[in-house]
Amino acid sequence: MPACVEKRHLLTATTNLNFSSAESIPVLNSSSEIVLSGLRPTGRVHLGNYFGAVRNWVALQERYNCYYFVADWHALTTDYADPQNVQQSTFDAVADWLAAGLDPQKCSIFLQSEVKEHAELHLLLSMVTPLPWLERVPSFKDQQQQLEDKDLNTYGFLGYPLLQTADIIVYRARHVPVGEDQASHLELSREIVRRFNNFYGPVFPEPQPLFTATPKVPGLDGRKMSKSYGNTIGLTASADEIRRLTMTMFTDPNRIRRNDPGNPDICNLFQFHRLFSDDQTIARVDHDCRTAQIGCVDDKKLIAERMIEALAPIRARRERIDRDPSIVWDTLRDGNRRARERAGETMEIVRKAMKIAYPLLS
Ligand code: SF4
Repeated sequence: MPACVEKRHLLTATTNLNFSSAESIPVLNSSSEIVLSGLRPTGRVHLGNYFGAVRNWVALQERYNCYYFVADWHALTTDYADPQNVQQSTFDAVADWLAAGLDPQKCSIFLQSEVKEHAELHLLLSMVTPLPWLERVPSFKDQQQQLEDKDLNTYGFLGYPLLQTADIIVYRARHVPVGEDQASHLELSREIVRRFNNFYGPVFPEPQPLFTATPKVPGLDGRKMSKSYGNTIGLTASADEIRRLTMTMFTDPNRIRRNDPGNPDICNLFQFHRLFSDDQTIARVDHDCRTAQIGCVDDKKLIAERMIEALAPIRARRERIDRDPSIVWDTLRDGNRRARERAGETMEIVRKAMKIAYPLLS
């Protein structure tokens, strides 16, 4: 058995996390249906990324032909002036995906910049996409305002939804996993596919949203969990780190003294019980909080231990990968090859459809 295959076997044990909402993903028809999803390389996965995307990816690999990628070109649309962290962030992201349960024998994990067909298709799509379609994308103006310390008045930033479209359709993917409030993100891709097919014939299927359960994960301070807010808990954080971070969590703001009854409905920490504790514990904490029988410090200790226990198998797998980083590079090398194969087939079809295939030159 080749070394890289052997190593991959070490990673195939599924996590013993058993979060019930992952079960609600609809049962699918056929594994030949392609699912495509990617994340920017922002380094180690935090609980917001995990519950928002990666956990669903793990479930979907059992039912679809899944392609998951690190969107390193997308990282450059906003971080072009300071790309030095991209490689380490890519390694950390893929290492955590594998630790979370992605199995390279069940899905293809690849790096966007290693599959040049994304760029070729992006260029060809740019020929047929009206400029106002890109200018009206809400996140174009929003992000320019939010990230005003960066000059995002660039061609690459305007075109990133088009690159996203190329990322999806270059695999002729039928499904893109999205949270229920994100269906509109795909609408531009679908419009571009319709326009392309109208000019050149039915080359691409219209990608459909695949709705997945994405519970809201608050950060330590109650805002959305995000690295830019500095309020995250890492999926593979150490036990000590989880204990330390949990002690800083915001709780019911109206509960000032230990003897005050609390209200779990407005408590940031209680949302973590919903993610990590069993029903019995949730009911007990709910009752004991409302009757002031449990204090917030004790509850913080309780949730920290629940998180440490639930995340232990993931953390153990990450430690194993850190002892042998070639697992990540072997996985990407293999995934890049599989991705190129599929994307290469698509581009042959596209070139023929657009009359820029030259068989006499090949
Ligand atoms: S006891 Fe727990 S649920 Fe109640 S307010 Fe404190 S941290 Fe929140």
